[in-house]
Amino acid sequence: MPKPKSENQFLIAGGGIGGLSAAIALGRMGISIRVLESTEKFSDEGAGIQLGPNATKILEQWGVLERLAGKAVVSEGVAIGDGLTGQLLATVPFGETAQERYGAPFLLAHRADLHRALLEVARSYSGFNIKMGCEALSFQQSPDGVTVTTRNGDVRGRALIAADGLWSRLRRDIDRGAALTFSGRTAWRTWIDPKDMPDALHGSWTGLWLGKKAHLVHYPVRGGKKINVVAVIDERWGSRSDGWNHEAEADQLVPYYAEWDSLPAQVVRNATAWRKWSLFQLPPLRAWTQGSVTAIGDTAHPVLPYLAQGGAMAIEDAAVLARILSEHDNDPWQAFRPFESARIGRTARTSYESRRMGNIYHMGGPMRMMRNFVLRHRSPESLLKKLDWLYGFEVSD
Ligand SMILES: Cc1cc2nc3c(=O)[nH]c(=O)nc-3n(C[C@H](O)[C@H](O)[C@H](O)COP(=O)(O)OP(=O)(O)OC[C@H]3O[C@@H](n4cnc5c(N)ncnc54)[C@H](O)[C@@H]3O)c2cc1C
Repeated sequence: MPKPKSENQFLIAGGGIGGLSAAIALGRMGISIRVLESTEKFSDEGAGIQLGPNATKILEQWGVLERLAGKAVVSEGVAIGDGLTGQLLATVPFGETAQERYGAPFLLAHRADLHRALLEVARSYSGFNIKMGCEALSFQQSPDGVTVTTRNGDVRGRALIAADGLWSRLRRDIDRGAALTFSGRTAWRTWIDPKDMPDALHGSWTGLWLGKKAHLVHYPVRGGKKINVVAVIDERWGSRSDGWNHEAEADQLVPYYAEWDSLPAQVVRNATAWRKWSLFQLPPLRAWTQGSVTAIGDTAHPVLPYLAQGGAMAIEDAAVLARILSEHDNDPWQAFRPFESARIGRTARTSYESRRMGNIYHMGGPMRMMRNFVLRHRSPESLLKKLDWLYGFEVSD
């Protein structure tokens, strides 16, 4: 007897960056998709997101990039400064250089714009379906499919892709031992009006200011109409944060920047309405795959934000998953393990390098002097060359 149609669909738990990317990548192959998303409605709030060429190249192929035109800003590069002296240490050039070198731009976007563009493209596939307000709680599988238990009842499908993010509920069904640990840092985020930015910091650049126990990142989004500001500090807070919704007092943040040069310190002082988020990390999982269930994005391999790559890794995951599925006649039982093997090395390296960068950003004393010396003597070309492994990624690799 033919299976009911719903049982041939792939289920995706989580309609964030990874879940919608997977919906597009599989939708392009004609696979029916049902996304189970816990929130009732997607929020228009949220932070900025930097999208390296490794991500934008894929988004371009999917038709997502064209929907960001006029909203995302093409980044000219990263200007790295010492927060304590206000001195420029080095630049990493993107702009035309990134386009020529990697075949795709480096973009600065509002997360809500990216999310909306992903959703519009996913919806353009007739087999796409999303159920909002549907929190996935656990799953059970049998040789012919997967049953996901949600708050609204059971949903059956042929396979399951767990994309329910950092605080995944499904991860523990894949690896019972998985436990997030607090990294000892919090990220504070806000928007500021370009008129409140010091003149010297205007332009389509990411400003990255390094300091002891703190660093600061700012970049324009929405055609330059808003500046996304993120301040990361060493702090023992460690509360679970599910979104940028925890209001935070600037009084707790400003002292971290008290000894900073007035140029970058002004950015922190001029900002209000901070939200904060604890940064958690996860030791590598023993496995991401169980039969016809696999995980992508932050569910499988959360990345600390110091290389701005967590979302990009989720997008890459989706593209690679689609490629490997197509090589195995769309059979999840055959494809999901090779998918995990294909991704584990790259995501582990990105995770390791992100953590290492975070340590370098917060160096103090002689280590700081040494870091600054090295950065001052590096050419823009040599700094970019060190990132070729990251930005030069090809889905067929
Ligand atoms: C401060 C900071 C800055 C960052 N900057 C960058 C950057 O510049 N560039 C970059 O590439 N990355 C960046 N990241 C990382 C990036 O945000 C994440 O890696 C990315 O969002 C992961 O995508 P995801 O789909 O795995 O998870 P998410 O995008 O978090 O999506 C998870 C989705 O699942 C839903 N959900 C949760 N639980 C359930 C459930 N049980 N059932 C159903 N649905 C559920 C959620 O509502 C959400 O929609 C940054 C992260 C932080 C903290």
